[in-house]
Amino acid sequence: MKIILLGPPGAGKGTQAKSISNRYDIPHISTGDIFRKNISEETPLGVEAKRYIDNGQLVPDSLTIDIVKDRLSDEDCKKGFLLDGFPRTVAQAEALKVFLQNKNEGMDCALLIDVPKDFILDRMTGRRVCLSCGASYHIKFNPSKVEGKCDVCGSDIIQRKDDNEATVKERLQVYDNQTQPLINYYNEEKLLKVVDGTKAINEVFDSVCNILGRDK
Ligand code: ADP
Ligand code: ADP
Ligand code: ZN
Repeated sequence: MKIILLGPPGAGKGTQAKSISNRYDIPHISTGDIFRKNISEETPLGVEAKRYIDNGQLVPDSLTIDIVKDRLSDEDCKKGFLLDGFPRTVAQAEALKVFLQNKNEGMDCALLIDVPKDFILDRMTGRRVCLSCGASYHIKFNPSKVEGKCDVCGSDIIQRKDDNEATVKERLQVYDNQTQPLINYYNEEKLLKVVDGTKAINEVFDSVCNILGRDK
């Protein structure tokens, strides 16, 4: 099973990705998580990516595409994978398509988590994340059991530097300009499916399972 999760920042991609990855036993590949790991380890990639991420801009395609191709070449991706936060531009989508075509493969589904703009700011500014395992929480909608600690791995959970109001607004603009066109792109590729992302987290997951099928 090869799945892309689409949707604006704050739609719930990361939250659903954790459940989908468990349920269908496929690796969850989040470009945002990969960049944040590199930033915390101060790798050359992290230093470069940070300049863009802190300003709400996209990391250039030239960097991003190679990272994803590398990751998709790992052994565990043979059984399928779940992409969260990639592709974000038409150039990335095209590169992914060519990469898979060269192996006689293709994506199975691009799943849009549809959430209107007026939900986003609350979701983003209340978000707390675990930098160790990537789990995502919300101070109101999905609090961790122990305040400040990740339910999954017990590490500290923090507010992302780019989850402030000004940067969120910038990211939404970037989404409209560069990522939204992918909805039409995947519709034309006959891969697009849509779920209503305004429902509760477990209800959204139920809709996702209806689309992906009940079997593994
Ligand atoms: P994305 O990966 O699309 O940016 P996240 O999964 O990190 O989004 O979710 C953004 C924020 O909204 C997080 O704080 C998360 O806990 C919360 N959230 C996710 N899905 C829902 C939902 N269906 N209802 C309410 N809050 C949600
Ligand atoms: P969110 O979950 O809020 O949508 P992500 O964690 O997916 O955010 O991404 C955080 C930031 O990392 C983005 O704002 C962008 O700067 C960078 N980034 C992540 N994925 C990509 C990508 N595919 N192309 C370019 N930049 C990316
Ligand atoms: Zn964790």
